[in-house]
Amino acid sequence: MLKLLNTLTKKEEVFKPIKEGHVGLYSCGPTVYNYPHIGNYRAFIFADILKRYLKYIGYDVMHVMNITDIDDKTIRDSIARGESLLDFTEFYTKEFNRELKDLNIEPATKQPKATDHIKEMVQMTEELLEKGFAYKGDDGSVYFDIKKFKSYGKLSGLDLEKIENNTKSRIKKDEYDKENAEDFALWKAWDQNDGDVYWDTPIGRGRPGWHIECSAMSTKYLGDHFDIHTGGVDLTFPHHENEIAQSECASGHKFVNYWLHNEHLLIDGKKMSKSLKNDYRLKDLQEKGFSPIDYRYWLLQANYKTIVNFTWEGLSASSNALKKLKSYYLNLPEGGKINEQYKNLFDEAMNDNLNTGEALATLWKIIKDEKVKDEEKKATILKFDTVLGLGIKDWKKEQAPENILKLIEARNLARKEKNWQESDRIREEIKNLGYKIKDTESGTEVFKL
Ligand code: AMP
Ligand code: ZN
Repeated sequence: MLKLLNTLTKKEEVFKPIKEGHVGLYSCGPTVYNYPHIGNYRAFIFADILKRYLKYIGYDVMHVMNITDIDDKTIRDSIARGESLLDFTEFYTKEFNRELKDLNIEPATKQPKATDHIKEMVQMTEELLEKGFAYKGDDGSVYFDIKKFKSYGKLSGLDLEKIENNTKSRIKKDEYDKENAEDFALWKAWDQNDGDVYWDTPIGRGRPGWHIECSAMSTKYLGDHFDIHTGGVDLTFPHHENEIAQSECASGHKFVNYWLHNEHLLIDGKKMSKSLKNDYRLKDLQEKGFSPIDYRYWLLQANYKTIVNFTWEGLSASSNALKKLKSYYLNLPEGGKINEQYKNLFDEAMNDNLNTGEALATLWKIIKDEKVKDEEKKATILKFDTVLGLGIKDWKKEQAPENILKLIEARNLARKEKNWQESDRIREEIKNLGYKIKDTESGTEVFKL
């Protein structure tokens, strides 16, 4: 039984889908104004692990991840760059999808862009106006009246009563003070800062607020009541709190059953973020010789609810562990069955709120267990990897470079001549060049160390 920690109830709950056998899953996607940093990718790797595990235990998953291609930041930076919003955001969307592939993150079932769904956002805003949950401000923008939604604050634990809000305050910016609760913009009336970015609609000339984007797109593809919504912990308030307010006031019933939030990636004890300028991109890791999968492995050692601190030493240890795993795995024979005992241990770890650290430890335990047949190990590791996503099924023995092949040939000749001293010397030379050889019935096999 899969248990998940639900931010809404602050409890670990057994997961029960709304419709048997199916899961509707929504993940807040990237704001495409730049490259995501590796902290952002923690959120997307987490969503990927969740989806892969839901599929592994038999669910049919409809996964929607949006692209925020219109907000304060995309407008600000496209204008600064002198590019159209569309060209600017399309570039970063493509780059994002390329990096998802490098991290072996499976594509979402649907990846809707906010600018393709303005109609749905306007409709929801109109509905909220009609029902009296929203009002038009004197600047022409439409604001959500948080006092009208009695359970505002239920996700983040914010107590509206305690917040000093005597004079009505409201906010047009997409993000706001974590300590304050203010009426927020559903629709932002055009002003000069927006340049040529606007839509003419029944609620005026302008553009949507960030929060309504996710409410409108999730509802369009998953319905107005669905199973799971994910995002980083910093999105709990105000973004997700506001999504709940908009969606539940529009529909009149519950929006999402399980809210899951991954913890932050820190660096030197501080949240990694673009604004603090302490962020690394995947490219920075690659320039130091690490692969995106080294990073994925490093992250999976901790449960998504654990705060982790990024270090190069940690990443280097993960890279070495992966190399070891690869050279071990590539020597395992085919044709085995999945080992049920170890599969149970793996499932137990994952059922415990996706404890990937324990799941990885289980993979190493089966490797070390001498009682388990090698072919069984191979089949079981491959099964685990449908969840872990290290890309093991595509691992292949690498063709050694020309100089190594020549040395192997020379060694084979020495062996034929029973010149064991020379053959040992060549083996040592090959080792010093970073390769290991193994003599088998079908010839000499070579592995990168
Ligand atoms: P953004 O593109 O800024 O909307 O962020 C995309 C995702 O990354 C969101 O789910 C954020 O909550 C998440 N995120 C941002 N910074 C971090 C971090 N340092 N560690 C983990 N997740 C983060
Ligand atoms: Zn969102």
